[in-house]
Amino acid sequence: MVYRSGMLRLHDTMTNTVRPLALRDEGKVSMYACGPTVYDLPHIGHGRYVLVWDVVRRFLISQGLAVTFVSNITDIDDHIIERAAEHGRTEQDVAQEFEHAWFSAMDLLSVLRPDAVPHATAFIPGMVALLERLLASGVAYQTSDGVYLDTSKIADYGVLAGQPLDQLRAGARIETHPEKRSPLDFALWKAAKAGEPSWDAPFGAGRPGWHTECVVMSLDLLGEGFDLHVGGQDLKFPHHENERAQAVGDGRVFATHWAHSGWVVVDGEKMSKSLKNFTSLTDLLARCDARAYRLLCLQSHYRAPVEVTPETIAQAEAALQRLDNLARRFRLAPIGPQPVVLSDAEVDPELLQTFVEAMENDLDTPRAFANLALAVSAANASADAGDEEAAGRGLAQSVAVLLAALGITLRSGLGEVDATAQDLARSRDEARARKDWATADRMRAELEALGYTVEDRNGETSLSR
Ligand SMILES: [Zn+2]
Repeated sequence: MVYRSGMLRLHDTMTNTVRPLALRDEGKVSMYACGPTVYDLPHIGHGRYVLVWDVVRRFLISQGLAVTFVSNITDIDDHIIERAAEHGRTEQDVAQEFEHAWFSAMDLLSVLRPDAVPHATAFIPGMVALLERLLASGVAYQTSDGVYLDTSKIADYGVLAGQPLDQLRAGARIETHPEKRSPLDFALWKAAKAGEPSWDAPFGAGRPGWHTECVVMSLDLLGEGFDLHVGGQDLKFPHHENERAQAVGDGRVFATHWAHSGWVVVDGEKMSKSLKNFTSLTDLLARCDARAYRLLCLQSHYRAPVEVTPETIAQAEAALQRLDNLARRFRLAPIGPQPVVLSDAEVDPELLQTFVEAMENDLDTPRAFANLALAVSAANASADAGDEEAAGRGLAQSVAVLLAALGITLRSGLGEVDATAQDLARSRDEARARKDWATADRMRAELEALGYTVEDRNGETSLSR
């Protein structure tokens, strides 16, 4: 029996309820996650929210759904301009360096690459067109330093923040600008300044505001009424509120479900650059097994804070060790990091059912792990009792499949591709790219002699053994 999903129930920030994720198109999920502004190394908090949404994406795929996941790169903003000026570099150069750092960290974390990675600077014409419409309808207005959205024109402004407007207004008053009609109004376009990159527009040269970038890119690539807009809790207000306000002001249906993940805390305080309790993800991943960070994040509920300290990382590493030991004991071949479709996999039906039920209940990964831990104990107990091949192995294999569905590949030391073989595979791809078939064939023979099965997948050498 294969347990197929009813549907994922996920907390929706807009209604403040846990409700089923309704899909616009049957069998398909359209999902947008706000990506990084690339002016520095990613920090641990970034790693957490990216892992949460990677797990949601993987879970939906595991249920047989076709997921389109879009996540942007903000490649122009004040921080990038500042950093470029400080170091005498171009904005483009700075953005490219930190985009590379971002994806290197994501690859280490086994976070699947998005299906599309729109860059803000490639979508300026669409942003200019949106602003022209908002100006024409009176939802936006012009000041000496740019274009602002008149939030009083948006009937349900504040719905994502979940706070009364007067509270939001009081909070926004600190950095108010004399020409703004309300402290809540926000910049859609920042007028050009000398020495800064700018783009021409009918309302004056300048550059887009951050909130304008995401609304244009998400609607452009996923269409109106896309299924799920996600991000860290700190993006709820003002970023997501302001993305949504522009869509509403433009008379368009925006995301129908909004989900937000909790933050990383250090000694009970939110980790942030301004508090200087910031650790880069790149540093963390140099020191620990990236799978342990994924495990640590998933052992907490995604909306609760996660405490990241050397102790909690060490505990996660120990838990991972127990899981790897299971794979070693039962000689399990590695599964992943590519997504797993559970209907294609052989999994113990009871374990599968409890796994899916926990995941569908607002992504209750702590409960999913607790169930898997019980299965690990049961598999070990039956092996201790001499029943390795029957119940024990099946259960151990099921645990490995379900962990792979969460993006965790167990290591048994079996079937792994070593560094020499990886180098050979890369050289073979290069030989094929330059149509040097003789060299590519010789390298295939060498890999086969090392005991690998060599397949060509999407133009790349794929190895297994
Ligand atoms: Zn965004």
